[in-house]
Amino acid sequence: MTKFIFATGGVVSSLGKGIASSAIACLLDAHGFKVTLQKFDPYLNVDPGTMSPFQHGEVYVTDDGAETDLDLGHYERFTGVSMSQANNVTTGSVYSSVINKERRGDYLGATVQIIPHITDEIKSRIFRLADRSPYDVIIAEIGGTVGDIESLPFLEALRQFPYDIGRENCLFIHLVLVPYIKAAGEVKTKPAQHSVKALREIGIQPDILICRTEKPYDDSIRSKIAMFCNVEPEAVFQGVDMPDIYEIPLLFREQRLDEVIIRKLKMPRQPANFSHWEKLIQRIKAATQDVKIAVVGKYIHLQDAYKSIYEAIRHGGIENDVRVEIERIDSEHLETGNVGEILGGVDGVLIPGGFGQRGIEGKILAAQFARERKIPYFGICLGMQIAAIEFARNVCGLEGANSTEFDETTPHPIIDLLATQKMITGMGGTMRLGGYTCRMHPDSNAARAYGSEQVTERHRHRYEFNNKYRNIFEERGMRIAGTTLDNKLVEIVEAVDHPWYLGCQFHPEFRSRPVKAHPLFREFIAQAKRQRLGEAAATRREQQAVG
Ligand code: GLN
Repeated sequence: MTKFIFATGGVVSSLGKGIASSAIACLLDAHGFKVTLQKFDPYLNVDPGTMSPFQHGEVYVTDDGAETDLDLGHYERFTGVSMSQANNVTTGSVYSSVINKERRGDYLGATVQIIPHITDEIKSRIFRLADRSPYDVIIAEIGGTVGDIESLPFLEALRQFPYDIGRENCLFIHLVLVPYIKAAGEVKTKPAQHSVKALREIGIQPDILICRTEKPYDDSIRSKIAMFCNVEPEAVFQGVDMPDIYEIPLLFREQRLDEVIIRKLKMPRQPANFSHWEKLIQRIKAATQDVKIAVVGKYIHLQDAYKSIYEAIRHGGIENDVRVEIERIDSEHLETGNVGEILGGVDGVLIPGGFGQRGIEGKILAAQFARERKIPYFGICLGMQIAAIEFARNVCGLEGANSTEFDETTPHPIIDLLATQKMITGMGGTMRLGGYTCRMHPDSNAARAYGSEQVTERHRHRYEFNNKYRNIFEERGMRIAGTTLDNKLVEIVEAVDHPWYLGCQFHPEFRSRPVKAHPLFREFIAQAKRQRLGEAAATRREQQAVG
């Protein structure tokens, strides 16, 4: 029998429900339980694929080609479990299937309503996930904050859930903020009390509270929260801000959150093994050498726009025992500033995916700088296309080369719309999405990194490298290092006369894990480390020569 954990949040948004849910999943996984997670998003978009990073942050792509919430990235990184379309449900997708059913006549004779039709559809999404595999636990996280109009149908569905499967099989975990008020010199529990009150008005009594707090508080506060919120004192946990999100499973473990969950859900006790996670944290803490990576994009001011990229870079750092300092560089600044000054001290340049023309020329300057100065370069999706445009213009002499995404009348469309995209008119879920297999040249940095000549990676794009330019690229020193199995689409390019200059049309960042960095990120950071050591050695030589 699958057990269900429902995670809700109150007081404010951005409490880290996704990370808390992932950390819990990580602990239960270490106890040997088969866990998966599901995210419910209360917006009307069918998926986040059409939303701007200003609205939503990164769009995370699964193997089966779903465009999903970035929390699914945390779920995969903390558990290693593969997510799919079924793991992300939005209000838009729920309403759209209910309305389709109504049009088909499935409810003939009935008035279709939020209760029971929408709530039944929500519950059926949870049951459908449970039917896919014999999970011991499903953790469902409800986006938004208790009290929002949007999330009411989800909370109502959860209120009904215990009546369908038994209260003993459900656990409600509520995250709240316990703020520290400087002027009073103390933490305050009232917002948490009000949030739990709002949840109870809907009919949900939380079993466990996770209190997000900047400053640790003492036991008297815990007892107070427990009493006012009607929760056992042993079930009130502190979610203190941590310097590193990967420490959160161990923070919860120290407080025995896993044991309380197992007891409350009457799950069997089995031997647990946290050693892989403990080793990870030890390794992170032991690193002393620094490496500086420039991430050049147009959404660098947003916390979440390149989430998986930043995480994957860190994973590469962990596996190379270095601390990575990520320098976020606004590509538009490169267009007006001094590229040499801005990128001068970096050990590697990464250009992530992106859409639209803004900031493109700055990215091209960054790619040129990395190529000419022999600084390790990693171009992902748009970053690969940028590398190709730069090479076409500055090495192949193809003046005005561009992608037709940015210049429809370019004389040299190095990057052009995929043939399969030409007839497509709708925007939602219509890109080339999800896992496709790539075959690599045996003598390529990519194949060496993977230790294999074939790999399946996740995609999200409409444009591709124009095959007409393959020959000139090969002749001038940009190798077509990877293609689709039918050799029709270019998947990887590599500059030959360079230690490590690689662009890939896919998104390796989605498959990187803290306990196992993605091979391309591992190699990119290894090269950056080499670059840093080389630079240091050169400076020493210069100093000795002067001395
Ligand atoms: N805009 C480019 C395309 O659609 C790149 C997409 C991306 O970087 N994800 O092909």
